[in-house]
Amino acid sequence: MIRTGSEYKDSIRGTREVYVSGERVKDVTAHPMFKPLVDIRARIYDMQHDPATRHIMAYKEDGEWNAVNNKLPHTQADWWDKRRATDTVLEDVGGIVTRVGDETVGEMWSLFDGQDVLNEVDPQFSENIRNHIQKVLHHDPFHVSANTDPKGDRSKPPQEQDPDMLLHVVKETDQGIVVRGAKYETAAAYANQAFTKPTIANWGNSAYSDYAVGFICDLNSPNLKFICRTGFAGRAPADDYPLSNKFDEVDTLVIFDDVLIPWENVLFYRHTKAAMFIRATLHRYSAFAFTQRNLKLADMMIGAALFNVRQTGLDKQQAVQEKLAQLACYREGINAHLTAAITLSERSPGGLIMPNQSLLYSGRLLACSQLHEMMHLTRELCGGQICVTPDKASFDAPETKPWLDKFYTVNEDWVAEDRRKLLAFARDMLNSDYAGHRLTFQLFAQSPPFAHLAAVYRNFDWDGPMEFVKHAAGLSDSVLGETTRTPGDSAVSRWFDTQATRSAAE
Ligand SMILES: Cc1cc2nc3c(=O)[nH]c(=O)nc-3n(C[C@H](O)[C@H](O)[C@H](O)COP(=O)(O)OP(=O)(O)OC[C@H]3O[C@@H](n4cnc5c(N)ncnc54)[C@H](O)[C@@H]3O)c2cc1C
Repeated sequence: MIRTGSEYKDSIRGTREVYVSGERVKDVTAHPMFKPLVDIRARIYDMQHDPATRHIMAYKEDGEWNAVNNKLPHTQADWWDKRRATDTVLEDVGGIVTRVGDETVGEMWSLFDGQDVLNEVDPQFSENIRNHIQKVLHHDPFHVSANTDPKGDRSKPPQEQDPDMLLHVVKETDQGIVVRGAKYETAAAYANQAFTKPTIANWGNSAYSDYAVGFICDLNSPNLKFICRTGFAGRAPADDYPLSNKFDEVDTLVIFDDVLIPWENVLFYRHTKAAMFIRATLHRYSAFAFTQRNLKLADMMIGAALFNVRQTGLDKQQAVQEKLAQLACYREGINAHLTAAITLSERSPGGLIMPNQSLLYSGRLLACSQLHEMMHLTRELCGGQICVTPDKASFDAPETKPWLDKFYTVNEDWVAEDRRKLLAFARDMLNSDYAGHRLTFQLFAQSPPFAHLAAVYRNFDWDGPMEFVKHAAGLSDSVLGETTRTPGDSAVSRWFDTQATRSAAE
């Protein structure tokens, strides 16, 4: 089933206890700091019905339309469809929004893969994850992610400080578990549900812990409080800060003040093995949509830089072309990783099709770790005018307009208003408070850099290079230990084999 934008808006109105800038928000759909993003999310729902985009955003199964991005991935084609649906959204809204559902729903598929681990704990839990995946398809909720607790003093175990610094279970009842603590969650104040699970933690040798708990939290549950960081929308005119005013995704400290989680929403509880499993595999699917955002951001940077240098004829200079080529390489590096991750996709332990893990995680690392350098390169190419240009009010005021028209008109194709708009766009993308926020978002929002590196380490096929060196250096068999690998065995050679089998069959 696919919802409409107005059904989504109705689902987040009501009794939620949302605060921003020290004030209670009456209606999250109407408040100026939330409205732009709520409207974009509503637009995404409506795009699923719009005849112009429905065939990209939704698919029909058993006579019912479902969202492409909620579909469990069973084939490579499913991944191409997801990639296209996300691009279509970003192109339609004219900017980048990340926490809008497609980038988080895949976290649940990782747990779907962990059903064996859940079965060891309690078969009810693996049934719950299957039910929730079906529920996402049939109810089309706006789903977000909750991992990060305030944490407190990490040199001490949680029991030796305020125990609520990490979310934990305080009581079991016939209806479910009661949890207390807090989580940082982007978009929670205007979403429907959050997959809530432990942050990266050192569980030591403990088999059981009240902190090892994962569940789907209905964000309309009683006793939740949403304390949001102040939004960027409305702080300065939209003409001068076009991105801040439209694309800010408000982050929230969600307080769980003894919240009842019904048993059917509990995905694991007490067993640290399940918590460790989910931490290690959490982004197996969702890193794709997250990394895809960097590709679009790279396009935004290339476009802004190129328009700037073209305006003034600088693109004819070789040194400028080299800088543009560096941006293009960054962009194509991400593109290559995403494309290859689909082409060389792998079967998951749960039988799904997951992007090639080594390529996906190294693509995410490339995209996130070089972003600051690429932003700086773009800043350099745009030149100093992005930070010295007066605001639109000065371009409109009768006393200053003639001067600004004169000095900001480059030629007959580039009149002052277009130059002002381009500089305002570039400033908001590279220099504003919002720009810094976005950079930090890409650095941290899908776990911190050390965890990105750890994911690469866990998924890279180390045996390949070692086998090669063993052979090239003439080392004895004992140096590599037991391996089932045959020479030439790699994801690429397996792909060739599949192609050969396919052509033979044709
Ligand atoms: C804009 C934004 C949006 C976010 N949205 C969400 C969200 O929607 N849902 C969610 O759950 N979380 C969200 N987060 C939180 C994000 O997941 C965390 O910021 C991230 O996991 C890092 O945790 P931390 O901030 O507690 O930093 P810390 O854990 O304190 O880490 C800070 C730094 O300490 C060092 N460090 C810490 N531990 C280690 C270690 N074991 N090994 C090596 N170095 C280490 C690293 O340099 C690390 O970068 C968001 C964060 C930001 C900035």
